[in-house]
Amino acid sequence: MKKTVTQHHKNVNENPCNMCMPMGGILPFKGIEGSMVIMHGSQGCSTYMRRHMAEHYNEPIDVGSSSLNEKGTVYGGEKNLKTGLQNIIKVYQPKLIGVLTTCLAETIGEDVERITADFKKEHSDLSAKIVPCATPGYGGTQFEGYFLTLKQILKHLTKPSESHDKINIIVPNISPADIREIKRILQVMEIAHTIFPDYSDTLDRPYERPYKKIPDGGTTIADIVKMSGAKATIQFAAMVDDELSPGLFLKEKYGIELHNIPIPTGLESTDIFLHTLSSISGKEIPQTIQQERGRLLDCMIDSHKYNAEGNAVIYGEPEQVYAITKACLENGIIPKVVATGSKTTKLKAALQPMIEQLDMGIEIVQETDFSVIRSLSVKHHVNLAIGHSDGRYLTEQEGIPLVRHGFPIHDRVGGQRLLSVGYTGTTMLLDRLTNTLLENKYNQYRTKMYKEYYEKNFLIGS
Ligand code: SF4
Repeated sequence: MKKTVTQHHKNVNENPCNMCMPMGGILPFKGIEGSMVIMHGSQGCSTYMRRHMAEHYNEPIDVGSSSLNEKGTVYGGEKNLKTGLQNIIKVYQPKLIGVLTTCLAETIGEDVERITADFKKEHSDLSAKIVPCATPGYGGTQFEGYFLTLKQILKHLTKPSESHDKINIIVPNISPADIREIKRILQVMEIAHTIFPDYSDTLDRPYERPYKKIPDGGTTIADIVKMSGAKATIQFAAMVDDELSPGLFLKEKYGIELHNIPIPTGLESTDIFLHTLSSISGKEIPQTIQQERGRLLDCMIDSHKYNAEGNAVIYGEPEQVYAITKACLENGIIPKVVATGSKTTKLKAALQPMIEQLDMGIEIVQETDFSVIRSLSVKHHVNLAIGHSDGRYLTEQEGIPLVRHGFPIHDRVGGQRLLSVGYTGTTMLLDRLTNTLLENKYNQYRTKMYKEYYEKNFLIGS
């Protein structure tokens, strides 16, 4: 049997394939109504994260910083953080403040649980809620930071509540357009729900005046509190380790039935989502959605002959990588290289049975970087890359066309509007993949044809 899983151990990370933990922690707070975030650490961390998010979403991204300097680093940063919290309350009047730590704050041993608890005692008239999260940059990637923060928000905000008919829908880092599509499906099926977090409006807001410092939208705090009484939870986090799972927290603490399923991208994963919704709610899948499924099948038939020529490298956050790999396999694109910067234990276990059946030398790499991804892509004659903008060097240096997907997309506009979930979103994704393969083929076939002709007839270049 061919080797299918490779660990490339290196002492140096060259051109990383991931970002750090607190970066992932910002996003959940941006999907909650009236929420603001402060990073406890030096100022560069929040600037770096704001820049990435602002370029991806094309929106202003406000993130505070406790601005630790040499003095705060040596004698402790409590005073800086408390001053920062006061300033944020004064300027933004938020309903919720997320306090995230950084490498520096964690390394000097700052206890943000204790500091924020003291701050609340010192300000008894404080109406804003505060949720502290320990997210050292070196503690994991943005993927782990995102789910750890969701769980921490639930730990701090939920309390036992009466049972109700809503279904909790916990989403990973997908686009605002994807969240809107999930909401549309729920509305078509007339299913009451709480999307957590919901940054579909806050990070893709309509143009309006006057400018609001905190945009409208987001999951309401009242709804988050009541997630403990929901009918069930559907969580798109099949690759998330149990200790980071917010849905598992709700199950263990409040007994809420958990359906932990993949992102509904691809035919099978969307079927799983729709059937799960149908079985929990007792409602039939409506005709309009069945027609969308039929259109996807039609699209798959139309494009399979082109996709059969696809050899892909897929990289990014494990949840996205799993969803896209499955969608490629459904459509005849061979995922030759599957890569993530995270160290989830679930990705490898979930993909291995599928790729062993194919026995095509597919390699899965975890905790990796772009130097490894690039050399494996060349080795496997990859002709399609699928992932975020940091892989653009695959195009620039190896001529491998890149379909931008995931986060961050900072060298193109519209990352927030890319739709890839549900039958309709999968159809649009599939068109993007197929058309990229076609464009690459038409760009190259004359060059290849002439090269072969001259090599054959004039014995040159061989
Ligand atoms: S890795 Fe650490 S120092 Fe760098 S941006 Fe992230 S939190 Fe800040």
